[in-house]
Amino acid sequence: AALREGYEHFDPRAYLRNNYLPPRADFSSEEFVVPWKLRCLAETFASGEIRGRTLIDVGSGPTIYQLLSACDHFEEIVATDYLAVNREELGRWARGEPGAFDWSPFIQHVCKIEGRGEPWQDKERRLRQRLRRILPIDVHRPEPLGAPLRPPADALLSAFCLEAVSPDRAAFVRALAHVGNLLRPGGHALLLGALGESFYLAGPARLPVVPLQESDVREALAAAGFALRELRSYAMPPALRTGVDDVDGVFFAHAQK
Ligand code: SAH
Repeated sequence: AALREGYEHFDPRAYLRNNYLPPRADFSSEEFVVPWKLRCLAETFASGEIRGRTLIDVGSGPTIYQLLSACDHFEEIVATDYLAVNREELGRWARGEPGAFDWSPFIQHVCKIEGRGEPWQDKERRLRQRLRRILPIDVHRPEPLGAPLRPPADALLSAFCLEAVSPDRAAFVRALAHVGNLLRPGGHALLLGALGESFYLAGPARLPVVPLQESDVREALAAAGFALRELRSYAMPPALRTGVDDVDGVFFAHAQK
């Protein structure tokens, strides 16, 4: 209930400013956190192993950076979020409306690290074409979309959501199992998330987060029925500890149901 109440005050623009503008979104060096996240995703999708009809992104929030490498490998990308304000922010970007957040530096950077010489506008167009559904979701329900996804997703992505909506580790495991219900057996799951974080700010909202260690992520994936393929982590440099949260680092996990 406290979490739900906290999210009523979540300000998408403040969240974007805190996490997706400099200093965290600085593309001049791979030392910064946003380029690290984008590289994890670009390298994982570069294998060509993760592909199919549908990829679902759980708790997309107001962001699309997490879909930039994914969108080349799926016919449809389904974005989801609990909050209408975030779904609206995403819709503005998907429709190319004025006032939408400017993701072009992210798109340019991903094209650069993917190294195919693709004009960034082509990737932007492709993601907008493939992002056809932006759905409400609640990961605390065994059926997070209110009904099964038919057919189930071939891949699942979730960034900075499950630990940011779970009061404790047991709830995190349950949420992971719930979102696993949206994925076909054998499907790939990619998680990005916060390590050692107890809160983050989004304007007037101060959201509690369950602090996780790498070992918690390993155990949660196993308990929720996933086989771990890869786990990497990043230590937040002092210059990026800006007070918008108390995060120690970031994990990236690749697992299979
Ligand atoms: N994926 C984005 C946003 C993460 S912020 C990124 O990488 O930055 C956490 C998100 O979880 C917010 O967008 C919030 O609206 C969403 N959320 C809150 N409660 C939720 C719930 N019960 N189920 C699913 N998502 C929820």
